[in-house]
Amino acid sequence: MNETAHPRTAPLRARAEIDLAALRANVRALRDRASGAALMAVVKSDAYGHGAIPCARAAVAAGATWLGTATPEEALALRAAGLTERVMCWLWTPGGPWREAIEAGLDLGVSAMWALAEVRAAARAAGRTARVQLKADTGLGRNGCPPADWPDLVAEALRAEAEGTVRVTGLWSHFACADEPGHPSVAAQLTRFHEMVAYAERQGVRPEIRHIANSPATLTLPESHFDLVRTGIALYGISPSPGIGTPHDFGLRPAMTLAASLALVKHVPGGHGVSYGHQYVTPGETTLGLVPVGYADGIPRHASGSGPVLVGGKWRTVAGRVAMDQFVVDLGGDEPEVGAEAVLFGPGDRGEPTAEDWAQASGTIAYEIVTRIGTRVPRVYVNEEPDGEREGDRAAQDG
Ligand SMILES: *Cc1c(COP(=O)(O)O)cnc(C)c1O
Repeated sequence: MNETAHPRTAPLRARAEIDLAALRANVRALRDRASGAALMAVVKSDAYGHGAIPCARAAVAAGATWLGTATPEEALALRAAGLTERVMCWLWTPGGPWREAIEAGLDLGVSAMWALAEVRAAARAAGRTARVQLKADTGLGRNGCPPADWPDLVAEALRAEAEGTVRVTGLWSHFACADEPGHPSVAAQLTRFHEMVAYAERQGVRPEIRHIANSPATLTLPESHFDLVRTGIALYGISPSPGIGTPHDFGLRPAMTLAASLALVKHVPGGHGVSYGHQYVTPGETTLGLVPVGYADGIPRHASGSGPVLVGGKWRTVAGRVAMDQFVVDLGGDEPEVGAEAVLFGPGDRGEPTAEDWAQASGTIAYEIVTRIGTRVPRVYVNEEPDGEREGDRAAQDG
């Protein structure tokens, strides 16, 4: 059964509620922070679990002029849904859908000669010019062209421009440690980026955009903004790292609330083992609540014995192991009704835990907490229409 087919009013086992007004406000806050740059809404991996199409539309409504994805398939899905903005994708493998991407007018991130060769062949076959953005490895050590290979890649791209198969629309890179302001690699990467861009421009590359900033750099490093910032996690209202500040510190609001309906509330005696392996044993007579989500829904098994849940106004903790489809909380004798809401995380202003709390409870980052929420959990969108939201902006402009 497809749970997403339920009408919105039906009681749900679990739901991830996505507040699109929060997402739009986050986009506006980020645009204010990087006011000289265009904003790319990074909606890879189903918009970090929030739903790529609705989030892309909301981001565009709030002023994002670019959309970014990792894979070409994700980018093509945005086009198929009717999104006509500039879309860039950067994670290619040999034999990828180059021709479809060129015909869809996508911007293609290229880090290596093999990719440039495949782009040129596909552009020739399509009879179209491919929009290519050359990626420099300025120190991340992941994707991107190392400085030693940059002259060859730039020269080859210029040959492709001359033959008409390629237009180099962008020069770009990605930070390793932008979430640790002051880390020496940040300044070193910026310097190298300036050098690699300057080299390409001296050779005759005329990019439309140059960009390196992800969310943490957008929030903390204005000199990294260049012509465009690529924000992912901050769009969804989550701080890239608790060390640089809370969402509230940056004027951001978490967009996702994950909640479930208690499937069972029962009295048990003291000394009762709970869930697989009996890792939790009730310290005395108590009540247990069954929360019907588990690791198949993306609840980290590493949060066994530690994940926080708001039930009936109180924080409870996962008792024992998280199973595939369910986990248990010790309600300490309270007797909420079966069906009562258990809030795993949300913005935090109703007293509920946040995705950051779950990250800390399970030894990971909040990015992973929201992104891993499974497809079995229906996404429910609220505040879909931006009515009136921008009146303040317009009034400010008119005034
Ligand atoms: C995921 C990603 C981003 C967005 O990163 P955030 O930290 O979520 O803002 C930007 N650029 C690239 C290349 C990425 O892969």
